[in-house]
Amino acid sequence: MMKMMRAQVIESVGKMVLKNVPVPEINDDEVLIKVKMCGICGTDLKIYSGEYAKEYLPFTSGHEFWGVVEEVGENAKGLKVGDRVSADICITCGTCYFCRRGEHLLCEHFTQLGIHTNGAFAEYVKAPWKNCYVIPDEVDDYSAAFIEPMTAVLQSSKVMDCKISTSVVVLGCGLGILHSAMAKLRGAAPVIIVGDSKKRLDLAKKMDVADYYIDITEVQDVVAEVKRITSGVGADYVLEAVGTPATYEQAFKMVRRGGVVEAFGVVGQGKTAAFEPYEFVLGEKKVRGSCAGIGNDWGEVINLLRYKRMDPKPMFSQVVPLEELEDALHELKTNKEIIKMFVCPDITERIYINK
Ligand SMILES: [Zn+2]
Ligand SMILES: [Zn+2]
Repeated sequence: MMKMMRAQVIESVGKMVLKNVPVPEINDDEVLIKVKMCGICGTDLKIYSGEYAKEYLPFTSGHEFWGVVEEVGENAKGLKVGDRVSADICITCGTCYFCRRGEHLLCEHFTQLGIHTNGAFAEYVKAPWKNCYVIPDEVDDYSAAFIEPMTAVLQSSKVMDCKISTSVVVLGCGLGILHSAMAKLRGAAPVIIVGDSKKRLDLAKKMDVADYYIDITEVQDVVAEVKRITSGVGADYVLEAVGTPATYEQAFKMVRRGGVVEAFGVVGQGKTAAFEPYEFVLGEKKVRGSCAGIGNDWGEVINLLRYKRMDPKPMFSQVVPLEELEDALHELKTNKEIIKMFVCPDITERIYINK
């Protein structure tokens, strides 16, 4: 008899239904994972509201997960039933122009597990065995839930490549908190984080991720404030983690001559931001972009968590049962007080953390 499981299926734009569906069948190169926790991401909101990956519906989203290996394909090596694992969600072809050059994130046939294919807002999810990374015991269950978003932060940090003792501004106080922590870990000084929520900035302060905390509801001219802190020069690096044309325009202005703007925040396709070409020609300013983690970013993040180089746990707001995912999506959209929510298919009542 076919084994069934509960899964939240986005049937069409704005319509999510909790269904009984067959447990995914794995081939020799895949593993079946029993989902323990899956973070709710802005991308899930965008899929639900039809702003992203609409053409892939209906499917079950959820890409920020970890779980326990339930079944192992014949070819899988180094994995056994009962292992705690997280999976690199990127699926690339390996043979296109970009893949051949090692630029896998640009793969012409790029898909991501839980963004374009069935993901982890379900009791089980399957993944290629080569994409799985074992989570050591030293990494607790809550920290493990941050692995996927942290891989995006790590990749972005590698692309930005800030040097020791350089100034970094992080615009945005969501994932920006982790970007800020990563910049500090790399030896940037000063690190300046800019946000629009007192609660989030207070949390960032508590986590000690920066040297300066700028609240845009109190500081009128953020560009001037960054210039003031950097002795009139501007910042060596500015990382945009908000995703609006206006904040990109600020980033172009506050970066110093010869400095780097790291583009991380996703602005809707077709929207544009203005910059002065003069500043980029005579000022030799640069822009680099990066949006996701891939491959061994997973291994490296797990290593950072294992040795406590970063501790994302204070950002954990609450865990919700699978049944309440749709409500949670609405709450995330409207309630700025919530930093990060996770779904756990095993629970029947919400668990509140770091209230
Ligand atoms: Zn995400
Ligand atoms: Zn490819």
